[in-house]
Amino acid sequence: MSELLKVEGISKDFDGIKALNGVAISIKSGEIVLLIGPNGSGKSTLIETITGFYKADSGKVIFQGDDITGIPSHLIYDFGITRTFQIPRPLKRMTLLENLMIAEKTAGDGIWGSFRKKWLEEEYKTAERAFKLLGFFELKDLYHHPASNLSRGQLKLLELGRALMPETKLLIMDEPLAGIAPQLAKKLLNRLKELKKIDIGLFLIEHRLDLVFPHVDNIYVIADGRIIAEGREEVLKNPEVIEVYLGA
Ligand code: ADP
Ligand code: MG
Repeated sequence: MSELLKVEGISKDFDGIKALNGVAISIKSGEIVLLIGPNGSGKSTLIETITGFYKADSGKVIFQGDDITGIPSHLIYDFGITRTFQIPRPLKRMTLLENLMIAEKTAGDGIWGSFRKKWLEEEYKTAERAFKLLGFFELKDLYHHPASNLSRGQLKLLELGRALMPETKLLIMDEPLAGIAPQLAKKLLNRLKELKKIDIGLFLIEHRLDLVFPHVDNIYVIADGRIIAEGREEVLKNPEVIEVYLGA
């Protein structure tokens, strides 16, 4: 396991509110890292900052040794960092297959770059990858259905598939289990463990500590923009965590 991502002392202010205050984290390849914290503690802001949607006021984001601080989001994709959103963003009238194929184009070297390539050959490769991912998430039989036919849980799986269309090294997920049935949550976690095996690093924001705890390699707890605890054992001993997440 080699280090993929290193966040060093990131701070981000919004009109005087310190959304992030000297946050440092590290993620290795083949590792599932969890970030938990109450509403408004800075979790989404951290993701937006790593993925180039927000610009940090200070601190550094290092990816495989490259300083990627402040690089805009569309270029971050080229490093192999992809993410899913709290609310899935599929193109509802397009089929599942189209949703995946489009994701590769928009995430990769840009739609114009794709047109310039020997596109038939490329399209074939893209479709092959899309089908593989649909199979991986047990959505293959629905490939020709519009995304609007999917359940909320299936939409989360499709969203994951979309994020995996480029050559993903680090996958960042904002609350992938929110609002889905326990059975599907299990399936999703099981898929994440498979992604671990092919050395993808996974960074997860999730409230459901009870569901994810057995599956994660490391945990960070954030409160008011600061990391207040790190590590599986330490987190379980932390009185704040016990009170908020494990119902003391
Ligand atoms: P979480 O994801 O942990 O619920 P956020 O990262 O969304 O928390 O928010 C952290 C703090 O930053 C909150 O006080 C929130 O209101 C503020 N914040 C987040 N994004 C913005 C923004 N674009 N503009 C102003 N304030 C923001
Ligand atoms: Mg959030």
